[in-house]
Amino acid sequence: MRISDVVAFAAMRAPETTALVFEDRTWTYQQLYADVCRLAHGLRGVAEPGDRIAVLTENNPEYVLAYYGVPLAGMTLVFVNYRLAPREVVDLLADATPTVLLTEQQFLDTARAATEIVGSIRTVVTVDGPAEDAGEFADLLDGCPETEPEPPDEDTPAWLLYTSGTTGRAKGAVLTHRSVTAAVLNAGVSWTRREEEQVVSLCPWPLCHIAGYAVPVAHLGADTVVLLRRYDPESFLAAVERHRVTSTTVAPTMLALLLRHPALEAHDTSSITRIGYGSAPMPVTTLRAAMRRFPNAGFQTGFGMTELAGNVLVHVPEDLLAAAEGRTELLASVGRPMALSAVRVLDETGADCADDEVGELVVRGDQVCAGYRNRPDATAEAFRDGWFHTGDLARRDAEGYFYIVDRMKDMILTGGENVYSREVEEVLHQHPAVAAAAVVGAPDEVWGERVVAVVEPVSGRAPTEAEIREHCAGQLAGYKCPREVVVVDELPRNTVGKVLKRDLRERLRAGVD
Ligand code: ATP
Ligand code: MG
Repeated sequence: MRISDVVAFAAMRAPETTALVFEDRTWTYQQLYADVCRLAHGLRGVAEPGDRIAVLTENNPEYVLAYYGVPLAGMTLVFVNYRLAPREVVDLLADATPTVLLTEQQFLDTARAATEIVGSIRTVVTVDGPAEDAGEFADLLDGCPETEPEPPDEDTPAWLLYTSGTTGRAKGAVLTHRSVTAAVLNAGVSWTRREEEQVVSLCPWPLCHIAGYAVPVAHLGADTVVLLRRYDPESFLAAVERHRVTSTTVAPTMLALLLRHPALEAHDTSSITRIGYGSAPMPVTTLRAAMRRFPNAGFQTGFGMTELAGNVLVHVPEDLLAAAEGRTELLASVGRPMALSAVRVLDETGADCADDEVGELVVRGDQVCAGYRNRPDATAEAFRDGWFHTGDLARRDAEGYFYIVDRMKDMILTGGENVYSREVEEVLHQHPAVAAAAVVGAPDEVWGERVVAVVEPVSGRAPTEAEIREHCAGQLAGYKCPREVVVVDELPRNTVGKVLKRDLRERLRAGVD
């Protein structure tokens, strides 16, 4: 199966169903697949099978066409995070060496600079109207047939997607057609669906992040996808109301911003029956507040990674209903393995951990990427003994529920004791003056590392160090309590709101807050 098949199949069984809504433009499944095929043919006029086609834009329908049309042409779509600095964009493109760069007016200067440095780029194409030295997306499709081109082999790289760069330099995960379709099918068979009505699925994710795979997952079910140009609480709420959205997935930060937004009560959100969340740890306090605000919605998390083309652990909505009825520990879990993924927790010797023992999460299955581009070192480190090593510390309880304990690189070793940053963060999030918090280890001559809490306060509040330490002292063992509390206006975050702890450590080292 090819990733474009999710649209091809839906176009056969539900040709007239709305596949995509973006602002005032819509596509039926039949129209969407016709455009996907036209793009694949058009690309073969400017590049060769095996080439890479990069996209540097915010969300738009052309991006969705590229999700499918580029791989259908036998080429690889390279996702460029539009929030990167121009210098970082150039570095990423130098690693990816694309032939074609799809972009939009607002990024043309960066695109031009990249073209001068990265010799592989032969063609720049804009998706939003003409530019002097660039082709137009519409011209690429113009006159191309709507017939299906000869499909590529399943082991052809379909997407080249860079990791978030939370722990180090972002790595390019090579995702073949097999990986991406396996991830999408896994979500399709593992997420219970209500078939009685047309699902209207809102995608607030930046399509340059793996969470954008929510779009093909929805297309597999012939759902209607409503796409936002970018996430902000106001446009999210307006889209929910206007399109009677039934289902969405969000990052924890998106949910936290939504719950705090003054426009929340002004919009009718009663159509929402399902809210998925993931991409970073969800503070339990935020989840509880969301469950109170959206009582008709089934909540479920997904645990995934760029390298896995999507999720491998998931809740079913019943899990969190059970949590509401007393099994509160499930609120902090990331559910159980999905139907098509094998997931284990291993100790340092490579043996399975006992129930509730903490070890490294490893994964096997078709969705695992083929490796990292140009990074044989990182590839060898992650792929060992037939299993992909996630770098996440986890435990599995007696009922088979998994809990992400921390990232291995975020765990703090202080005075010979292990401190899981996430455990301390959960406690910090419970403080009423704390909007968000991140805990990192700072080098310490006496303790090896000391626990440092970096806190983003709720606006108008300025928690003192003493207040925060007292709050923690009541709930955590002494060695886990922050030795130092730094209050910042804003934590460094990526496009989906994930705290970039690597940047945070650098900022702390440089003494900037
Ligand atoms: P890099 O690999 O470049 O350091 P990254 O790991 O943040 O960046 P992603 O692939 O976007 O890049 O994120 C995957 C990671 O996100 C996982 O390894 C895990 O640590 C975290 N994560 C994803 N989903 C969840 C979740 N539901 N709960 C907790 N953590 C999650
Ligand atoms: Mg990672």
